[in-house]
Amino acid sequence: MKKERVVIIGSGPAGLTAALYTARAQLAPVVIAGAQLGGQVAITHEIENYPGFPDGLSGPELVERMKEHAENFGATFEFDLVDSVDFSKGSPFLIKTYGEEYLADAVIVTIGADPRKLGVPGEEDYIGAGVSYCGTCDGFFFRGKDIVVVGGGDSALEEAIFLTRFATSVNIIHRRDELRAGVQLQQRAFNNDKISFTWNSVVEEIVGGDDGVNAVRLKNRATGEETVHPTEGVFIFIGHDPNNAIFGDQIALNENGYIITDQRYRTNVDGVFAAGEIQDEIWRQVATSVGQGTSAAMAAIQWLEANEERLQELDAVPAAGD
Ligand code: NAP
Repeated sequence: MKKERVVIIGSGPAGLTAALYTARAQLAPVVIAGAQLGGQVAITHEIENYPGFPDGLSGPELVERMKEHAENFGATFEFDLVDSVDFSKGSPFLIKTYGEEYLADAVIVTIGADPRKLGVPGEEDYIGAGVSYCGTCDGFFFRGKDIVVVGGGDSALEEAIFLTRFATSVNIIHRRDELRAGVQLQQRAFNNDKISFTWNSVVEEIVGGDDGVNAVRLKNRATGEETVHPTEGVFIFIGHDPNNAIFGDQIALNENGYIITDQRYRTNVDGVFAAGEIQDEIWRQVATSVGQGTSAAMAAIQWLEANEERLQELDAVPAAGD
């Protein structure tokens, strides 16, 4: 078992930034990075809205740079998945991965949320080649194109309206004949000349070729009729799933499953902090996650300083079996 001052769970922008800040505070953080560095950012082919990079850069390049930056100050990365955590006894916290066990004085949870997938044929094949889960990230690449948006909630409508800045037309495909989104967003969408609706319809398949997506195959749930709708882009906004499975009931979650934090990014467990999309269901930007990771790390550093004496006393007590 390894004893650490700080373990960071997750390696998206929030986790990588928390790693940098805690490393610069001489805490030698360990980042449990998951199977792939960068989380959702790793599948974003170009990021054009991260300040300081006027020519844009790819998601994988940005997270590699962030990793190198944190490593330069003493962070280490383990490409492993967390199997379970035990927050029940307070700090130090037990974290079991598939390859190791850690005892951590403080934990920063940055494990993110995944965009919900349709789970239809073609979806996985065309991610980054016409299928997207982020209008802000990818809208610019669909200038002058006809695209579809799937979903009927606030995100779908907000993103559809945003995407009309680039696309020639945006067709919203919704599985019912009534939107879930708030009335004001609905009005803005109905009043937008570039937006049209396909009601009562589900995407059965995303169809494409070497150049990427060229159509969606739809089924009307009311009539059973199947149609093929030509399109070059499929933006899917049917909700997000926060990656909260490893916590069980050990940490307070809101009604949508996101970790509840206060302004200092503290969770309800003393010594456990959370940042990025596991606690933010609204903004979901690299820049906001970086800011949240910074704040959570600074809060964790302050917390460790305030609890230094008690933690040192605990360190001095031999563990059972020693
Ligand atoms: P959401 O409110 O859960 O809406 C998801 C939409 O996707 C619903 O219309 C749902 O259809 C549809 N959907 C779900 N699974 C589907 C499937 N398998 N196939 C086809 N359609 C499917 O999610 P969200 O829009 O991401 O919003 C999440 C939260 O953030 C909400 O509380 C929302 O109010 C909030 N939010 C607020 C703002 C804002 O205030 N500006 C902006 C974005 C998000 P049904 O309607 O039939 O269930």
